[in-house]
Amino acid sequence: MRIKFNLIVAKIWMSLPSTMLLCLGISSINLLGFSKAQAFHPCPPLHRAEHKGPLGSIPVCVPTPPPISIPTNPTEVSEETWGQAGAVGYQSASDIMRAKNGGSQGLYQSQKIYLRPHFGDLVDRVQVVYNAQMMDTWSAFGQEIRLGGVESAAQTYCDRIYVRDSYNPNDFNQVILLAHELTHSKQCEKLGGMTQFGYHYFREYKKGGQNYQNNTMEKEAEAFQEKFAGWLSGEIASQNQSSDISVSLGNGKVIKYFRNNGTGTLVRQDGGEIIQRYSGWHKSWDQIVAIRTDMVLFYDREAGKGEIYRIEPQGNLTFLYRYDGWRKTWRNISSLGNSRVRFVDDTNHSEIYSVNDQGVFSDAN
Ligand SMILES: [Zn+2]
Repeated sequence: MRIKFNLIVAKIWMSLPSTMLLCLGISSINLLGFSKAQAFHPCPPLHRAEHKGPLGSIPVCVPTPPPISIPTNPTEVSEETWGQAGAVGYQSASDIMRAKNGGSQGLYQSQKIYLRPHFGDLVDRVQVVYNAQMMDTWSAFGQEIRLGGVESAAQTYCDRIYVRDSYNPNDFNQVILLAHELTHSKQCEKLGGMTQFGYHYFREYKKGGQNYQNNTMEKEAEAFQEKFAGWLSGEIASQNQSSDISVSLGNGKVIKYFRNNGTGTLVRQDGGEIIQRYSGWHKSWDQIVAIRTDMVLFYDREAGKGEIYRIEPQGNLTFLYRYDGWRKTWRNISSLGNSRVRFVDDTNHSEIYSVNDQGVFSDAN
């Protein structure tokens, strides 16, 4: 029984990718042991799909999973066998999704802001396809694995996430949806790739009594999604509170400072879209000054401290210079343009300084 099944799996493994290659007419590639004579049979009409590439639509064959005839009730198939079927089936589903759908794109900066703290640079590696045509089921043993829950709105094939709807920058639920899907991307990376993910996903599906919700890999994604949703609503609430200091950088961007929790944001002046979020800031800054569009000064009057940072194109702050012995009497610090800064104290005495690219001040009175 096992031997027979393995043979069947091996056959599927070989036939699936080759179907795609053959139908694309790439007959010279013969990686999978098929002879050229077999290469030019036309696509069965039902298997044809359009692939929208940069050069327009090209018809491709979509391999439908071949029938697997196992003379056994699927419920009697072992978990290991389900796993093996998944190792193949998941990969082929991924191929089908690629062929069915058009181009992909990276996550938007506005999404990365919320997802990066939880997923690190995985957010830079995944690709997203919006308006995706989904598969509602995966096949194994002549049975359908019905994808439920979140997976009807989005599906992930390791580093490629398919979202049924179009991108909506104002929909925080879409970010929550991505958090669920990124959990699957993370699982995939951790397990070592598509084949391993498919193996584990199908095996856990079987372990969970062939029920989507009981699959431990779904439970993990579901649990994280819920935790993330709670965290996100807190973030949004804090972001809607009014800032203590708001400084225009003069390039359409504004830095906002929230003293009570030591956080800040970089937002677009029109629209208010958050470009970057900052945390771990001192809670004692009195003034923030945009020395240039890409350089900012933080002044702590009580401590007599000044810190200068460069604002990188993505909005990250790079530390440049710290002053510890500044006077504690500066009432107003303002930019004069051309990297010059004026300090005015409580007695209206003023001093002007130039600032170089490294954030170092020199007397310009
Ligand atoms: Zn899921």
